[in-house]
Formats: sequence, C-alpha cells, structure tokens
Amino acid sequence: MEYQAKELFAKHDVPVLPGQVAETPDEARRAAEAIGGQVVVKAQVKIGGRGKAGGVKLADDPDDAVAKSEAILGMDIKGHTVHRVLVTEASDIAEEYYVSFLLDRANRTFLAMASVEGGVEIEQLAAERPEALAMIPVDPLAGVDAAKAAEIADAAGFSADVRDQVVTILQQLWTVFTTEDATLVEVNPLVKTPDGKIVALDGKVSLDDNAAFRHDDHARFEDSAAADPLEARAKEKDLNYVKLSGEVGIIGNGAGLVMSTLDVVAYAGEEFNGVKPANFLDIGGGASAEVMANGLEIILSDPEVVSVFVNVFGGITACDAVANGIVHAFELLESRGDSVTKPLVVRLDGNNAEEGRRILADFVASAAAVNLEQVDTMDGAARRAAELAAAGK
Ligand code: GDP
Ligand code: MN
Repeated sequence: MEYQAKELFAKHDVPVLPGQVAETPDEARRAAEAIGGQVVVKAQVKIGGRGKAGGVKLADDPDDAVAKSEAILGMDIKGHTVHRVLVTEASDIAEEYYVSFLLDRANRTFLAMASVEGGVEIEQLAAERPEALAMIPVDPLAGVDAAKAAEIADAAGFSADVRDQVVTILQQLWTVFTTEDATLVEVNPLVKTPDGKIVALDGKVSLDDNAAFRHDDHARFEDSAAADPLEARAKEKDLNYVKLSGEVGIIGNGAGLVMSTLDVVAYAGEEFNGVKPANFLDIGGGASAEVMANGLEIILSDPEVVSVFVNVFGGITACDAVANGIVHAFELLESRGDSVTKPLVVRLDGNNAEEGRRILADFVASAAAVNLEQVDTMDGAARRAAELAAAGK
C-alpha cells in the first residue's frame, strides 16, 4: 500500500510528505490536526486509479478530514474495500512525473521507466504516447549510479531546473529497489511543487517473497485480512497452495507437473460444463502421509471443490510410498473427524507405479466407503475428475 511504500521511501531518504494512517474518521481528525493546514485523504488499497474512483480527496481542515474520511472509508474501489486512509500534507502541484524500476523478466534484466508526463495511468501513456516514456535497461551488476541516473533523467527529458534532484531521487529509489529486494518500485506521480521541490506523492512497491527470509521487518506489510482464508491455513502448514475459482481440487508433486495438471483439467473441463481447477497445490518431491493429509484437508474444506485429482509422478519418493501416504491420509482425516466423501481420481506413474496402484486398489477393495478411482494416464484422469465435478455440481 501507498503508506507502506512511503515508509520504505522515507527509510532510504526519498522525499515524501508527512502523513498518518487512520482507520476511523476520529483518527483522521487527529491526523489532520497533527499535520495542520490542508490535507489529502487517500484510500489505502492495493489497486491503482484511486484518484479517478473518488478515493483521493482534499480536506481544508480537521472537520473536513472527518467528512472526507467518512466518504472514503468503506468505499469499494475495483473490488477492494477501503479499511484505512492515509492523511497527508496537501501539496500544490506544478508538474507531475513518472519514475519506476522493475524486474524485466522477458529481457532478464532490470528496467527503469521515466516520463515527464506522469499522473495518468502508465499503461495508458505507454499505449497512447510511447515516445513520452523512456525505458532504459539497468544492468543488475552495475546498478544505478549518478551517471546511470542522469542517463534515465535525460532520456525522459527532465528539465535542467529539476534534473539534479531527479538524479538523486533515482539513485535513492534504486537503493529501495535493491536493499529491500523489490521487484517493482514505482512513483506516480513524482511531483514538482510550485517552489521547485521534487517529492514522491504516491508510491508502489512490490517485494520479492523469495527474499523474505532476509527481511524480518517486511512481515508487517502483509495484509492477512485480505488473504484468502484457505491460503492462510495452507501457509500455516507450509503448503504451496493457491486458491483458484474452479471445482476440481488438484494435488500434485512438483510445480511444473501441477501447472500442467491445471492446464489439462481446464482443457478437459471445456467438455464438461466448463469445470475448472479449484487450486494449485504442490506437495513437493518427498511428501509424507501427513503432508498429503494436510493437502487433502485444505482442498476438501474448499466448499467449491466437487472432485479431487491427485496427480503424482513417483521420483525420489516412489509411487508405493505415495500410495501409502494417500491411505494414511484417509485414515488421518477419518480420525480427525473429516472423513473423505468427495470423489478422488488418482493417477500414479513413475517409480514403482505398479506397486503404488496395487496398494490403492487393495485399499479401495477393503474399505467400501472410499470413493477413489485410479486412471493410468494424466489426460484420462483429468477427464474423469472433470466429469465427476460436472456431475456433482
Ligand atoms: P492513484 O490514483 O491511485 O494513483 O493515486 P495518487 O496518489 O497518484 O493520486 C491521484 C492524483 O491525485 C494525483 O495524480 C494528483 O493529481 C492528485 N493528488 C494526490 N495527492 C495530492 C496532493 O497532495 N495535492 C494535490 N493537489 N493533488 C494530489
Ligand atoms: Mn498514482
């Protein structure tokens, strides 16, 4: 969120205006009193275009800040409910610019973007006036020193009166980008005030989760309220789970296999009433029965799930171990009072596939209540899981 981005900006000396976060109109009043004078009340949601949506309003005094925060708190901006506002010193604006650093995956490098025509949505600027948006690759090893920052500023056409300030700010933003392990740092607008000062009026930072282990202080930026409850529970159990909106629960081992499984299920679903995968869940290579049980438990507690497809390729953990894991998972869930009633389709292939299939077949034969089918091919199993989901929907 903007106020969090600005906190990181301030930490690395990027100029921002003083502000305070408020969750109630009363807190907004106190923030406005503390800041003094005219303030801006800004919706804090993780989506752009707040200004256009009415989520950014000027307030003349503390009473007005109460009125404006009452209007903004609770507002829905493109599906995001506003739970807090940033009350910040109002600034007069002489010019609005745009600057950002981002990870350019396609070109395997970093990219700086800058424009002296900021304030508007950058996608719109890039589409309508691409010549007004400078795009300069940044070598990850060389980074952004004064010379590189000057190259970016000059490519964007910053005028001489602000060039030095912009060059400094670009280096500070690069420091934010690298030391905080961000994949995006964006300022839109970066503004020139009437007295010629440059400040970041808005900010957006995306942090790289893969680097979270070296930033204990980033945990506080996480918005647990906004996270999906199933995803939150999966995270507690260290499961690699992403909730999707379909009906076929998916468990697989290996991210690549699970991604392909989502594809084949979505493809098979086209024939069966448009059913789709309900989630991504990679239980990893050496999954124990407990991990399988935890995964099944999360997926089965998703009310949208109608059928489950377990797609496993036996590698280091061979299929017989996986099959035993599935059997134990059923028993574990039964003992937790969550017996499995939704139909499962299991496809086992790879090391010891024969033995794995035999273990599951024996299990199904011995326990009448178990609703588990085996299909030997991935495509066939995907079709069957989609068919079961369509039938049970
Ligand atoms: P966004 O619409 O979600 O990107 O939110 P921004 O923070 O970028 O605000 C949108 C627009 O509101 C900016 O481009 C500015 O024109 C305007 N704005 C934001 N803060 C101020 C301020 O302190 N003073 C003035 N005059 N305008 C502001
Ligand atoms: Mn903005």
